[in-house]
Amino acid sequence: MSTFANTLILWQTQHGRHGLPWQGTRDPYAIWIAEIMLQQTQVMTVIPYYQRFLEAFPDIECLAKASIDAVLALWSGLGYYSRGRNLHKAACQMAEYHQGRFPQHAAEIQQLPGIGRSTAAAIAAFAYGERCAILDGNVKRVLTRYFGIIGYPGEKKTEALLWQKAEALLPEENAAQHMATYTQALMDLGATVCTRHQPRCSRCPLQPDCVAFREHRVASLPTPKPRKPLPSKETTFLILIDQDKILLEKRPSPGIWGGLWCLPERQMDNSSQIYCMQFLGMDAALFAELPPLDHTFTHFKLRIYTQLLQIINRPRRKTDHEIWITIDDALQLAIPAPVRKILLKTVFRQQLLAH
Ligand code: SF4
Repeated sequence: MSTFANTLILWQTQHGRHGLPWQGTRDPYAIWIAEIMLQQTQVMTVIPYYQRFLEAFPDIECLAKASIDAVLALWSGLGYYSRGRNLHKAACQMAEYHQGRFPQHAAEIQQLPGIGRSTAAAIAAFAYGERCAILDGNVKRVLTRYFGIIGYPGEKKTEALLWQKAEALLPEENAAQHMATYTQALMDLGATVCTRHQPRCSRCPLQPDCVAFREHRVASLPTPKPRKPLPSKETTFLILIDQDKILLEKRPSPGIWGGLWCLPERQMDNSSQIYCMQFLGMDAALFAELPPLDHTFTHFKLRIYTQLLQIINRPRRKTDHEIWITIDDALQLAIPAPVRKILLKTVFRQQLLAH
């Protein structure tokens, strides 16, 4: 076995993370849910979501049969909602085309919606001991430092080189037996030792051969992404109040927050009252505004203004993309994180006014 793999496997056994809810299972379904939730999200945040999700949808069949609303409701607050939509889509595909069974090789797993090469490899390594390399953000950081590789890891050329390195380092002897520990070791090292800021090189098992450490280049690697400032946008959300209920609208999918319940968003320069009349067919009186809320997406920043309006003549129509609901009930639905913050602020404000 390569020194690198051997060193990491020994280190993981003694110093790696053990006892996380998704460890110790070989069930590819449970591993898949964990791997998707862990993308861009901290372990401690994921744990309660993972447990609730597996309780509600313990296997592929349950997930495939669930409504997308039920899936997104359990995803609410975890962000990057396309992950939840893709999980559901992939479960439906497996139910329809794979007799409800999880594919058994990384190459097939990667064909499912929302599963990239590294995630497919992680699932296959953990569930089946398949000898295949992972290369998530943490592993890219470890390898660029270990080999002293210059170049932003998101660039094709650098990424291709990192894949080559990752594959060359895989355990060779008894690989099936060691792949789960080795893969976990790489993840753990990136998450707990070779961290983005203040890596703990003094405790790192790779330190004797680490190029970045030897050449005092740890702080400058990986090469950062060439920065472009994020564009800014503004929007206005409306909290339309009729007695104890507010209006939520289901966002079209695909699109930002697609399939989630959201506050009506004013799309034009006119006043909110005119917007309500023209687009929602109801009279409304503006009575308050909340302080603006800033939300950052990966590709732009959004400043959200929120206005509270009292509805005067609520139309009695019913559609499947509109719902009048109490704020307490709205907080149980699949709603985007900023809408949740706004509704919590509104509740707080109402409580203040009531005193
Ligand atoms: S020695 Fe430091 S920089 Fe090198 S792999 Fe270990 S933690 Fe990362």
